[in-house]
Amino acid sequence: MKALVLEEYNKLAYKDVPDPVITENDVLVKVMACGICGSDVHGLDGSTGRRIPPMIMGHEASGVIVETGKGVSKWKKGDRVTFDSTVYPLNDWFTLEGNYNLSDMREVLGVSPGTYKRDGAFAEFIVIPQHILYNIPKNVTFEQAAMVEAVAVALHSINIAGIKTGDSCIITGAGMIGVFIIKLLRISGASKIIAVDINTARVAAALNAGADHGFMFSDPSLNEKVIQLTNSRGADISFEAVGRSESVNSAIENTRKGGKVILVGNVSPKVEFPLQKVVTRELKILGSCAIRGEYEVILDLLQSGKIKVDDMISIVAPLSDGAYWFEKLYSRTEELNKVILVP
Ligand SMILES: [Zn+2]
Repeated sequence: MKALVLEEYNKLAYKDVPDPVITENDVLVKVMACGICGSDVHGLDGSTGRRIPPMIMGHEASGVIVETGKGVSKWKKGDRVTFDSTVYPLNDWFTLEGNYNLSDMREVLGVSPGTYKRDGAFAEFIVIPQHILYNIPKNVTFEQAAMVEAVAVALHSINIAGIKTGDSCIITGAGMIGVFIIKLLRISGASKIIAVDINTARVAAALNAGADHGFMFSDPSLNEKVIQLTNSRGADISFEAVGRSESVNSAIENTRKGGKVILVGNVSPKVEFPLQKVVTRELKILGSCAIRGEYEVILDLLQSGKIKVDDMISIVAPLSDGAYWFEKLYSRTEELNKVILVP
């Protein structure tokens, strides 16, 4: 089969590789669409240590089942499917507790951090264990289904927050995940949605997605404005969707006493932490990692049209042009949202 192979850091090649082979509980999926994730772009140069070459990246995908293993009964050839980005063991303590996203031995598709290597979906075919598959509803396209992973990550953070009707929310970082958090908050009963970013285009995108107010991090009266908008208290819940000191500090600063800060972004491994602001105001700081079954809900919301993703797809391009699009995303020469590659 053809695949887009990370042969060495900063070197992608579209080339022939051996066809993958399924075992008893797997299906073979012919990939129809696979989105380039920010983590793939960051992984390209080795800086994250999670894409050790040679390997095939890609974990935001959809396709059609072309072969099923002997132990597979619920799925058949021709089924249109998407799948979790995480392959998790079924007999793990955390999985059995209902937290499969935290399971030991979990592996992410298209990731190679040294302890394991699992080839991803920038290829014609991919092997997927049957327990991570989801059916794509008829009126949802393969490209839309390839967006589900990112929307599910956003929904997971909202589920972690345990939002109540009327909560005021602030989102620091209006990239892909931040925008989907905003879209989901719109239908989750949040009263006021305030977005903050470093980039004016992203602030505009946040407003388009349904934020009530949009500000720049550099705005010297940001905190004052947030306080004014939230009955002189600060936001009930903050969602941090970048993972840098400036953004984490802004999320903490603009949350009301006793409020919650949900940390989703993790671009930097460490950030400066305003300890006293957290302790003396009794903030609840909660991490949100990946997805815990949110796929089904997102697929339903896509089917019913309650959530839209097309506006976040910039380009659908052939997988053979993958190296070109990775380079464009890496060099940030233009503002791109999701680039989807089609084998
Ligand atoms: Zn991703």
